[in-house]
Amino acid sequence: MGLQEYKRKRDFKKTPEPAGKVAKVAKAKGSSFVIQKHAASRLHYDFRLEMEGVLRSWAVPKGPSLDPGEKRLAVHVEDHPLDYGDFEGVIPKGQYGGGTVLLWDHGIWYPDIDPVKAYRKGHIKFRLEGEKLHGGWHLVRLQGKDEDKENWLLFKESDEFAVPGSGDALVEEYPASVTTGLTIEEIAANLDRVWQSNREEKVAKKKEPAKNAPSPPAGARKAKLPAKVAPQLATLVSDPPKGAEWIHELKLDGYRVLCELKDGPRGKT
Ligand code: MN
Repeated sequence: MGLQEYKRKRDFKKTPEPAGKVAKVAKAKGSSFVIQKHAASRLHYDFRLEMEGVLRSWAVPKGPSLDPGEKRLAVHVEDHPLDYGDFEGVIPKGQYGGGTVLLWDHGIWYPDIDPVKAYRKGHIKFRLEGEKLHGGWHLVRLQGKDEDKENWLLFKESDEFAVPGSGDALVEEYPASVTTGLTIEEIAANLDRVWQSNREEKVAKKKEPAKNAPSPPAGARKAKLPAKVAPQLATLVSDPPKGAEWIHELKLDGYRVLCELKDGPRGKT
């Protein structure tokens, strides 16, 4: 399929999703898989298997179930670039797939036979080693006339990881992101402040930096504000740093340390 369809649907000036490219090397053994919970116009889970340098993709409205009797509709959708496997964030309203994306699970998948052959045949049997999903799974293509939207079924194999009769328990009990621990509501709330398409236009005019503004440190690069910022930890030392002037002020809630660095004064509270 390639990425033409993926690129055609998106305006990369407006969406934070990766533009991506087809990766050159296909790994011999296991390849990556990712499941992204996607709160778009309708909530669904995007199930993606790395194959032929792209992420072959299915949209699963109800998400996976550990109950082998629950055969979940999986609508085959366009290939996505491998970079997409790390994407978690907000796709602006009005853009293709506009809504919130949460990295629900990721890991390695192992096909039982040549994956490209299995894919063409319409029955992929595989094992997952993810953080939430494990053991054997099947993806089976249904017979149908509509070539644009191929319907497949995703279901759990009966093995030691199966939980017969569990229904939706898996997606209900484990809603959070495997990378950030955030829920879909928290991702939407966090990133709304950073990336909001209609608000962005108002602040789009770039402010000129102040004339004596410090330049960013060497090696710094522009990036999105992370969803969670780890606190900066202090290290206990017996002497103040040499070659720098410093004072500290006792405050009711702690200490304020002012250091005179080579390139000017800076404060830390
Ligand atoms: Mn989607």
